[in-house]
Amino acid sequence: MLILHCPYCGVSAEETEFAPGGEAHIKRFGPGASDEEFRDYLFARENPKGVHFERWRHAYGCGKWFHAARCTVTLEVFGTYPAQTTEPPQAIRDAISAKRPGWSWREFE
Ligand SMILES: [Zn+2]
Repeated sequence: MLILHCPYCGVSAEETEFAPGGEAHIKRFGPGASDEEFRDYLFARENPKGVHFERWRHAYGCGKWFHAARCTVTLEVFGTYPAQTTEPPQAIRDAISAKRPGWSWREFE
């Protein structure tokens, strides 16, 4: 069972109270982007076996979007943080590195 914590209203609840929003931290390139960059922005997604950063919405609560760092294998949640954050907070990266030595993802190595 996946238990998520809403960083806005402080509620911890089962995932059925939340709505998934796909991968977090997807970057959109500027108006001069190539077709390949725009294609990747629209369609290319990570599908890791392990640590993943996702968008979630507290659908049956405050309704706000937030990000969650979790393991797709064990459902362990390393932390949640506001959706306006452009990259995972250092405290969450440290928590992941402590439990998954050698872990790396994109530029958050
Ligand atoms: Zn909430």
